[in-house]
Amino acid sequence: MKYYSVAFCLLLITGSGTAQQSVSATTLNQNKVIVKSFIDEFWNTKNTAGAYRITCVCGENVNVTADNYETAVTTMIPAMDKHVAAKEHPQVPKNLTPEMKNGMVRATMVNSVLEKFLSEKYIEHSLPPGMPQGAASAQMMAMMFKHAFPDLAIAIEDQIAEGDKVVSRVVLTGTNTGPFMEMPATNQQIRMTGIRIDRIANGKIVEHWAVADQMSMMQQLGVMPMTSEPKK
Ligand SMILES: [Zn+2]
Repeated sequence: MKYYSVAFCLLLITGSGTAQQSVSATTLNQNKVIVKSFIDEFWNTKNTAGAYRITCVCGENVNVTADNYETAVTTMIPAMDKHVAAKEHPQVPKNLTPEMKNGMVRATMVNSVLEKFLSEKYIEHSLPPGMPQGAASAQMMAMMFKHAFPDLAIAIEDQIAEGDKVVSRVVLTGTNTGPFMEMPATNQQIRMTGIRIDRIANGKIVEHWAVADQMSMMQQLGVMPMTSEPKK
């Protein structure tokens, strides 16, 4: 009897220890689906129509709906002007230039698809220098790519989930028919491989890291020479 009690206690201890550390296969699969759905609904869709929101520094939301992202920007600027003028906003500088307003709207405006998948506390770890942190930056990056590569598509080739993270091996394809990072369109097709890591909490993406083979993309666009043979 005593022997069995000890064995039972050991079983409980090891059992509970395992339960704390492991994540169920269902949750791991759900996390993979969240990342896949985000890529499909946000990156792989050409339709950017819908609801857009800015949470003002005063805490209130300003909402607009628009047929596309650029229309949302031009609709949001006067909507924000009206909101800021309606009550005291000591945090908002007076005499903002149209360029400054445009930049501020782009840096803070998120659409309903982003809100569906990204946490309010979203942290983007792979931003180019100078870009503001948060979900709106993910949107600016996507818009830059969609503008330059209107047929852009991201395919997931492999996904590995562990704990609260999902690692996805992706391939981005597209034709460069629009300006990209101040370079004119090259009409070149590109195929860029990348790895993205997403951390999921409460059904939303809270952190994102990415590494992409940007050098290969620049070479395919013809703006960077192919790697030369090593000198002897
Ligand atoms: Zn406000």
